[in-house]
Amino acid sequence: MAHDCSFVDDVVRKGRVSTDDEILLAHSKDEGPHDAHRPDVVVWPGSVSEISALLSAANTRKVPVTPWSGGTSIEGNPIPVAGGIVLDTYECNEITVRNDDLQAVVGPGVVYDDLNAALEPYDLRFAPGIAAGDVATIGGMIANNASGLNAVRYGVTGDHVLRLEVVLPDGRIIECGRDVPKTTAGYNLKDLFVGSEGTLGVITEATLSLEGVPRHRHAALVTFSSNTAASRAVSTIMGSGLKPGALEFMDSQLVRLLNEYREDADFPDPLSC
Ligand SMILES: Cc1cc2nc3c(=O)[nH]c(=O)nc-3n(C[C@H](O)[C@H](O)[C@H](O)COP(=O)(O)OP(=O)(O)OC[C@H]3O[C@@H](n4cnc5c(N)ncnc54)[C@H](O)[C@@H]3O)c2cc1C
Repeated sequence: MAHDCSFVDDVVRKGRVSTDDEILLAHSKDEGPHDAHRPDVVVWPGSVSEISALLSAANTRKVPVTPWSGGTSIEGNPIPVAGGIVLDTYECNEITVRNDDLQAVVGPGVVYDDLNAALEPYDLRFAPGIAAGDVATIGGMIANNASGLNAVRYGVTGDHVLRLEVVLPDGRIIECGRDVPKTTAGYNLKDLFVGSEGTLGVITEATLSLEGVPRHRHAALVTFSSNTAASRAVSTIMGSGLKPGALEFMDSQLVRLLNEYREDADFPDPLSC
């Protein structure tokens, strides 16, 4: 059922709204295998007050709104299954580095790799890691509580979120969390939004904690005769008090595919060991 979204022109600046067929199509599907659902309109609000006005107006009219950022999800997370409005925060990409505080204040549309490029001069980084880091954004990472192979040492995205500014579905703007590593003041509402996949509100700003970039790194590639033996090795390493910066497990099928796909890859096949 199509929704009457004509009101968006009154709340979002001209040029930040599209009903163009190609744009609707591009926002109807993520990177996973799930069915596409077209929104009625896509908007790129330029400020928190525009997002607030938009959500308030949509809420009054009972028009569904789905937040969207990089669109790299693979579980259907940003697909507008009920149509209505896709609220794209990809262009909310301001970065303020507070290097002395080991923190960065970022907009939800900041791309993971761009944030780490901005942190490079300070020898700092946002550490959770993600394989889609060239497109995935901080807003999408917080909403999905994403993480990559660094998680074994540095934790997942939520472990680095100190404070959030969020616009609630009725347009109210709230702040939760604090710009400090530890606080016991009030309910921990911040963590409610981490991993909520855009269902509880739109994240409009986040304060993230940062890590120093290690000066030395060593990597080892080890082949095991079975998945069980590989798992045992991980438990032995972790149990010994060593904390690797990253761990990645590749089974024999993945090794074979990798060798086929990349000309420069020649990993030993675990089954032939
Ligand atoms: C090749 C590839 C590799 C990947 N590797 C990893 C990986 O290593 N680790 C991992 O965890 N995931 C991985 N993913 C999945 C995906 O990249 C992550 O889930 C990522 O966090 C999605 O970010 P995004 O910016 O693309 O968000 P989107 O896909 O646009 O949105 C994700 C969710 O967040 C919501 N959302 C978006 N913006 C906001 C906002 N401002 N406020 C509130 N909610 C919002 C959306 O509604 C949706 O529910 C991979 C995907 C691909 C295609």
